Amino acid sequence: MKGIVTEIQRFSLKDGPGIRTTVFLKGCNMACKWCHNPETLSMGRELMRHPEHCISCGACISACRHGAMASGRDGGVAFSRDKCVSCGACADGCFTGALAMSGTEMGVDDVMREVMQDADYYRNSGGGITISGGEAMCQPEFADALLRAARDAGVSTAIETNMLADWNVYERLLPALDLVMLDIKLACDSEHRRWTGAGNARVLANAAKIAGRIPTIIRTPIIPGVNDSAEAISPIASFIKGLGGKVEYYELLLYNPLGEGKYRALGMEHLFSGAKPAGEERQALLRKVAEGAGVPVRIG
Ligand code: SF4
Ligand code: SF4
Repeated sequence: MKGIVTEIQRFSLKDGPGIRTTVFLKGCNMACKWCHNPETLSMGRELMRHPEHCISCGACISACRHGAMASGRDGGVAFSRDKCVSCGACADGCFTGALAMSGTEMGVDDVMREVMQDADYYRNSGGGITISGGEAMCQPEFADALLRAARDAGVSTAIETNMLADWNVYERLLPALDLVMLDIKLACDSEHRRWTGAGNARVLANAAKIAGRIPTIIRTPIIPGVNDSAEAISPIASFIKGLGGKVEYYELLLYNPLGEGKYRALGMEHLFSGAKPAGEERQALLRKVAEGAGVPVRIG
């Protein structure tokens, strides 16, 4: 069983309890306009360009058989993304890091070899493996196989998910899953559709089904001008309250501006360029509203 992985992040402290290894899978069934991992949105491998590292050696021009790389007027390299077929030949020959492919095909054993390097840390800290993305459920068989391999190896398991997949995808994972961290980004269906490209009816229905079956954390990424208001957070808190204490805690995730360079590297427009995470005063306001959920609130 093989999957497409964008990154394996060891010693992660933000993707669940304890010290964890987070495996980021490629592909997403939403397209949140603020996504800080835009390289995970599409299923296929993609070329990322960092022109600031280019020394104009021309190796990529020779390597490209598709006419996507050419000599630029300024003596540098002119890139035509519309001609690029993501073969990776140019990145293989670029030794400065100016070109890199996002997405590596890996087997379950390959991933587990990396994951098991930190097995002692998981035991001592209460950590484990977290499968994230993109959207982990866009590669459901691979995610399932990884969770089962981790469970067999005695490693605690978690997923981060937008909860949009069919319920039977989640149901199949439950026997090997210790924790789900799910996002509710907006309570209003039309606003959810506007900002993520998908409605939220299935998200909410799945969240209600999974809470109580396994330990569940609900999270909302706080995006400036989208949902950083009492009006946006209050109905999500009410939804969580309606789940009747089946949620471990409600976490407000501050906007992460680190994705900006990735948008540039992929030649994508970033709608939230220059946006800042909520300041202390707004955090305090949102925490107060979130406490209406009747569960502990964290800001991360
Ligand atoms: S191979 Fe890398 S460093 Fe050389 S010209 Fe191409 S992008 Fe620049
Ligand atoms: S990934 Fe392949 S097609 Fe795209 S620019 Fe590089 S060599 Fe050319």
